[in-house]
Amino acid sequence: MGRIVYVNGEYLPEDQGKVSMFDRGFLFADGVYEVTPVVNGRLVDYEAHMERLARSLAEIRITGAPTRTALDNMHMGLIKKNGLAEGYIYMQITRGAADRDFKFPKDVKPTMIGFTQTASLIDNPNATVGVKVVTVPDLRWKRRDIKSVMLLGPVLGKQEAYEKGAFEGWMVEDGYVTEGTSSNAYIVKDNTVITRGLSSEILAGCTRRALFRLANEQGVNIVERKFTPDEAYGAEEAFLTSASNFVMPIIEIDGHRIGGGQPGPVARKLRELFLQEAMK
Ligand code: PMP
Repeated sequence: MGRIVYVNGEYLPEDQGKVSMFDRGFLFADGVYEVTPVVNGRLVDYEAHMERLARSLAEIRITGAPTRTALDNMHMGLIKKNGLAEGYIYMQITRGAADRDFKFPKDVKPTMIGFTQTASLIDNPNATVGVKVVTVPDLRWKRRDIKSVMLLGPVLGKQEAYEKGAFEGWMVEDGYVTEGTSSNAYIVKDNTVITRGLSSEILAGCTRRALFRLANEQGVNIVERKFTPDEAYGAEEAFLTSASNFVMPIIEIDGHRIGGGQPGPVARKLRELFLQEAMK
């Protein structure tokens, strides 16, 4: 604790960072967010995150949000003021504070907040041994392509996974894995990476996008299609991706050992490539 946070144009000690109880982020989850990794004091995949933020804002029709320059300044300012070497920047924009009414308020200024979080992204001990996953029901709304702060489905899913001793929950809908509660999901079969295609059913991960580029450069084959938990149990490898985990090998799904209980070669290689690029 003891961080400097950002609230509506001001940098403040974290215990002074406050927003109105009438903020629509609080009352309606009427807002969107982004999480951008920081390695060696530098933002990773920043353009992709800002592109997705602009899309999320447009999809929920928040207008008058801070400019790209203001966003750049906030990200850089938070890194500098907190001396952040490794971790991430969390930021969110809501439609603003107004009397409670479902309809969009008129003449209201969006709220923007941001803060830093330190984390070991490069030397992450979980990545050495791999993590466990359990399947959970996908309880979310129908626009998961929007990075909305309405995260009750993922909160319940992650808690269920945690209570079952797992690191992540893979959400299942209509018999197929959609994605992790805060990550994208992959299995490997015959040296081919399999992951669900993009649609409104999942979030287009920025790490996923980078992974596709790296895999393509390295000649690793990726197929975009749905897979069931049963298919995943029999996979040679499994892994997840997210801004805060990069590429994370999975060694167990619903108690089924994957890859003999060891991180697999494809996941390890893709993680290595990702780290190399992040540290550049
Ligand atoms: N899916 C969901 C539901 C997520 O919450 C996240 C993490 N924000 C991801 C996928 C991974 O996205 P990214 O690689 O941009 O962190």
